[in-house]
Amino acid sequence: MASVLVVEDDQFVRSALIRHLSEASHTVRSVGTALEALREVAHFRFDVVILDLGLPDLDGGEALKMLRSITDVPVIIATARDDESEIVRLLNDGADDYLTKPFSVEHLSARMAAVLRRSRAAGAEAPPPGVLRVGGLSIDPLRRTAELDGAGLDLTRREFDLLAFLAGRPGVVVARKELLAEVWQQSYGDDQTIDVHLSWLRRKLGETAARPRYLHTLRGVGVKLQPPPDTPGAAPLAEPSA
Ligand code: CA
Repeated sequence: MASVLVVEDDQFVRSALIRHLSEASHTVRSVGTALEALREVAHFRFDVVILDLGLPDLDGGEALKMLRSITDVPVIIATARDDESEIVRLLNDGADDYLTKPFSVEHLSARMAAVLRRSRAAGAEAPPPGVLRVGGLSIDPLRRTAELDGAGLDLTRREFDLLAFLAGRPGVVVARKELLAEVWQQSYGDDQTIDVHLSWLRRKLGETAARPRYLHTLRGVGVKLQPPPDTPGAAPLAEPSA
């Protein structure tokens, strides 16, 4: 399972990609312009970006260069143009792979798997992750500091671990069992432990369970952290395909 950003202005292609990737258990966000894509990668961590070359606002090559100036995320170019010299140029400019439209789901899956394998192998030796940003939240795992709208948060060790873990996968519902395993390093335990820490964390974020902003509890399912709609990076997901 991977976190995927689909950058595609064609509603039909975009919906099909979202559907197929979601069916393959990937987490998908999607945007239709290069500038939205830049905003997304500045606020969220993705495992791979699928970038359409023909976008309405920026030429795909320009979009790729701008993406590369802010992130090392693997990029697979999806192009309708079958122009070898352009493809070579894009690969030199930092694309990790490319697909010529129309492509099959199987082809896309295979290319994605290969790109993810390479980046995960490289990631094993990579330095620790940088600062995580979700809306107005900024969390520095190395310094173990967190800020909300520029003001420092005074968090306990566990609250920090909980916040950092959720911020690493914004918008993804994390099951309590997974939180216990990842944050508490316990294979079993009491849901109440999590609830208590969540409620302390909520208070420090200035919100309540009844009026959540960042922390959302889905009864019987889990918890997710996501940017409130009025903050940067809170672009809505594309509407599900018809
Ligand atoms: Ca297009």
